[in-house]
Amino acid sequence: MTHVIDGNDVASRIENDLEDCLETLESAGVTPGLATVLMSDDAASETYVSMKQEACDEIGIGGFHRELDPNAPAEKLRETVEDLNDDPRVHGILVQMPTPNHVDSRRVLRNIDPRKDIDGFHPENVGRLVAGNPRYKPCTPHGIQKLLESADVDSAGKDVVIVGRSDIVGKPMANLLIQNAPGGNATVTVCHSRTEDLAEKTRGADIVIAAAGVAELVDGSMIREGATVIDVGVNRLEAETERGYDLVGDVEFESAKEKAAVITPVPGGVGPMTIAMLLYNTIDAASVQEDVPIDL
Ligand code: NDP
Repeated sequence: MTHVIDGNDVASRIENDLEDCLETLESAGVTPGLATVLMSDDAASETYVSMKQEACDEIGIGGFHRELDPNAPAEKLRETVEDLNDDPRVHGILVQMPTPNHVDSRRVLRNIDPRKDIDGFHPENVGRLVAGNPRYKPCTPHGIQKLLESADVDSAGKDVVIVGRSDIVGKPMANLLIQNAPGGNATVTVCHSRTEDLAEKTRGADIVIAAAGVAELVDGSMIREGATVIDVGVNRLEAETERGYDLVGDVEFESAKEKAAVITPVPGGVGPMTIAMLLYNTIDAASVQEDVPIDL
């Protein structure tokens, strides 16, 4: 029987544990604050930001949202980030990507106070991650580590193939998995659009993590019997549904499920974990910045 990991269930267990941490902070007079910054009229980005805000509201994290005209000069975004850097109520800052073409997103990320960079994208935090001493683990890869743990899949000594080398998913995932630490110690291959014979690589893997943004790129014929398959992809395919599209992952779920021992669905797999780990990092940031120890 294939174990289909319920990401909503794992995320809500993590959020329950976070409530205890929030109580400890509250009793010391601290309310963690997360600022989201949106400079885009892309519908998917708007949805992601509002989901993050709702999650903050539900658990009791203070939400500070800034919305900028996508045509505003890049300077406006820099000023907004600096304002939030200086705001003591804000412990975490998240600038929703992608930003408009005229904005240099790397420069924006460099402007965020590294202590408030709960996505872990600031060069200082990337460096710490690579050095094996992460300040905050980037949300999606950290969530994937928690999903593997929830299914008793130990990455130590396993061959892992990651499909995708983005700064947000593929690279930090690889860095976490090769660390000599719990949730790491794997042998990792990172594939991308120039990889020759992707199927040969994925077939050799004990764990496949698909993060390419290509609908149903990985099918059952590319999976080894008994493998673990983590599907990060979120792709909108036009469909005659009420909202006009269906969400599908980077894995062809039905055929992959035939082969896999453990698999995540889309939706309801990695997505809820990204949000749970964002709350986790914001609470961690508040604890460190306000010097109130908590048991995370
Ligand atoms: P990017 O577009 O930044 O990166 C995609 C990566 O996949 C690139 O490295 C690219 O290679 C590689 N790739 C593209 N096509 C192929 C192919 N045919 N074969 C092998 N590799 C390929 O995407 P992200 O990392 O930001 O996101 C990936 C997916 O995950 C998206 O669907 C996104 O929506 C989803 N996502 C989901 C999250 C969640 O919480 N569920 C969070 C973040 C992302 P190259 O570098 O050569 O171009």
